[in-house]
Amino acid sequence: MAKTIVLTNQKGGVGKTTTSAALAAGLAKKEKRVLAIDLDPQGNLGFSFGLDIESGNTLFEALKGDVPIFDAIQRKEGVDFIRSNILLSGAGQVMRGDRRELLLKRLLEPVERFYDYIIMDTPPAFNMLTLNGYSAADYLIIPMSAEILSLVGLTQLKETYETIRRTVNPDLKVMGILMTSFDGRRGLSWEVKEMAEGVAAQLGTKVFETVIRSSVAVAEAPAHGENIIDYAPRSNAAKDYKAFVNEVMGIIEGERHDGKKDK
Ligand code: ADP
Ligand code: MG
Repeated sequence: MAKTIVLTNQKGGVGKTTTSAALAAGLAKKEKRVLAIDLDPQGNLGFSFGLDIESGNTLFEALKGDVPIFDAIQRKEGVDFIRSNILLSGAGQVMRGDRRELLLKRLLEPVERFYDYIIMDTPPAFNMLTLNGYSAADYLIIPMSAEILSLVGLTQLKETYETIRRTVNPDLKVMGILMTSFDGRRGLSWEVKEMAEGVAAQLGTKVFETVIRSSVAVAEAPAHGENIIDYAPRSNAAKDYKAFVNEVMGIIEGERHDGKKDK
């Protein structure tokens, strides 16, 4: 059964999309079957993988029920994608009815068994789409940029997370906070990391052992339609993302193993 991981932080520019792309690509390189879904109407995830996001079926058509979910999937570099574009900003209007927070989860039910991992990128906002992402998720990963004081919004995230656990998705877990754009020579990076450790403790989670160092290549990669691991494999950020993929797989496979032991 697929494990669903949602990259989230209500703040923009913290590395959600960069991390979604690297995680999806990195897991696919480990022979995992990966579905990457863009819940952000900005469409950056598909764009950064070099997909045409302006034509063809996207998440929006599938959510509206115009096409079966299978028809919205596109394959590139070993990863299956469900793209989005600006039309998705109208999703709130088409997602109606009882338990509308579960629409995405239900939509994904028929495809789930074909994947090991489902990775979702989210918009820098808490809206109906983000709520649907949280409802469908097993884990949240919270990227945090070590370059900016990005703690605003994290208190709100804690409240949202607790509400979701109390209501729609009691099994939801925060896998960890991921430090991105990290520069060990800057005092600020270490300060933000320390604050992140405080926030992590409040969320009952931890800061990932892997930190993603700052690399100029990260900003260049999307324009070439490539994720950072393929675009600049020797960059610090690519090396760190590979280590991060191993850390994530270790956590999930560790839990699968524990689960078996419990039974
Ligand atoms: P979000 O999806 O949270 O808005 P992005 O992944 O789009 O964030 O990243 C925001 C900006 O930060 C982009 O310009 C990206 O190139 C840059 N960035 C992200 N991670 C790194 C990194 N490790 N090194 C350098 N720049 C980074
Ligand atoms: Mg983004």
